[in-house]
Amino acid sequence: MEKLVMIKYGELSTKKDNINFFLKQLKDNVSFALKQMDVNIKFDKGRMFITLNKDNFDEVCKALKKIFGIYEFDVAYKLDSKNEEDIKKSVLELVKKKEFTTFKVQTKRSDKKFPKESMEFNRLMGGVILKSIPNVRVDVHNPELLVNIEIRSDGVYVYFNSEKGIGGYPVGVAGKGLLMLSGGIDSPVAGYLAIKRGVKLECLYFESPPHTSIEAKNKVIELAKKLAVYNNNIKLHIINFTEIQTTIYQNCPHEYLITIMRRMMYRISEIVARNNRCKIIVNGESIGQVASQTLTSMNVINETVKIPVIRPVACFDKLEIIDIAKKIDTYETSILPYEDCCTIFVPDHPVINPEFAKAREYEKLLPYEDLIYKAIKGHEIINITKDDKVEFSDLL
Ligand code: ATP
Ligand code: MG
Repeated sequence: MEKLVMIKYGELSTKKDNINFFLKQLKDNVSFALKQMDVNIKFDKGRMFITLNKDNFDEVCKALKKIFGIYEFDVAYKLDSKNEEDIKKSVLELVKKKEFTTFKVQTKRSDKKFPKESMEFNRLMGGVILKSIPNVRVDVHNPELLVNIEIRSDGVYVYFNSEKGIGGYPVGVAGKGLLMLSGGIDSPVAGYLAIKRGVKLECLYFESPPHTSIEAKNKVIELAKKLAVYNNNIKLHIINFTEIQTTIYQNCPHEYLITIMRRMMYRISEIVARNNRCKIIVNGESIGQVASQTLTSMNVINETVKIPVIRPVACFDKLEIIDIAKKIDTYETSILPYEDCCTIFVPDHPVINPEFAKAREYEKLLPYEDLIYKAIKGHEIINITKDDKVEFSDLL
């Protein structure tokens, strides 16, 4: 018999018309994630199979836990024959290696040509196990050992307790999005949730040197690396925001600094998104979290762009966001204490309910179109690959 890894798609199986597109993307993503691991991948509409040329199952399974679109995976054994007597012998051989007192056989027969129905086969195999292994019994509700037997047209597969995948859609199937990535807790989590829906992300970071440090930038690169694991790799755009920020500071009433600064960030994000064929902006705004995230503020800021802005953590409590940040290992990096451009030049009393008319009027005091053009023209791009390498490419 052959030992391999079998992947189940879960929700993806419901994508009737698009299933081939989804599965092809999943296969590409799995190949990309496992490219150093010497494996072969095959798939059909029901399952994906990975055969390994080395005994590196742990390494492969660890990588599969970070790929969206996988609902469950199992280390399985493909039996050499579909003959009933051979199946009995092989299953018994496998089960004898396990330690358990209670068990249940669960057969799934997708090959309707196979002569026995699933329930009948459960009883048959259950009987064989009871007769051949002393001191074990059947427990259908809470068995220690679940003996799964899948009878498919291409063969019979046996596996035991399964591993849960992270679900979601394969990254790439939804097209591209641009994540506004700061060094905070919320935006990496927002990015992760967008990737989970199949959005392939690029990231955009606004820096304000010398007010923001190289450490702050490195922290964002580190966060982008953590997201790259789920995104296959990541392109990080870095915009120098200093001139825009200081010009706002010198020209606009200070209670509107944040509102106008964020209007500029949105405008730049929309242009970078369109230039890179990203169909949405994603950010880590959460309703009511700070003055710029009241519903009134969101309206006044959002009016500057036409592109959809998706806010995956809009309705989450901070503690819920922190839980996800810990799970995806961004939390410890996010809490490093380096100043972000949003925390410099912060007024004592930012306006909580800004007015459209005032925001429009105050920003007319700046030559913002020229400043935006200049910031985008000179922007830096860093390509972060999954294997932890950071490549600095030249300016655009
Ligand atoms: P925190 O966890 O401290 O709230 P945050 O990243 O959510 O961090 P906010 O000030 O709440 O920071 O900003 C709201 C959103 O705006 C961020 O989630 C992020 O998407 C975007 N943003 C803020 N600052 C930047 C920046 N310097 N570069 C890119 N995007 C930013
Ligand atoms: Mg926030």
